[in-house]
Amino acid sequence: MIFFFGTRPGKQTFTLLENTECPFCKQTGTLSVSKSSNWFHFFWIKLFKISSNLLADCSHCTRAYYENEFTEEMKKGAANL
Ligand SMILES: [Zn+2]
Repeated sequence: MIFFFGTRPGKQTFTLLENTECPFCKQTGTLSVSKSSNWFHFFWIKLFKISSNLLADCSHCTRAYYENEFTEEMKKGAANL
């Protein structure tokens, strides 16, 4: 018998940080944050979440920020995701 298990990506969610300034180009309202997660599955049934990642990017300067580079304001905005 073969067992199928492993990891699968969950759905991605996005939010625009309207009142947050980009630390790089100093524009306000250009940052958006996306959250993606990985799930452990067994026969493609999602059992539990393994990890989730936050990534912010700026539509003005196209700079991307990982979670460990987030400013306090960015963290606050991402908390609603
Ligand atoms: Zn920017």
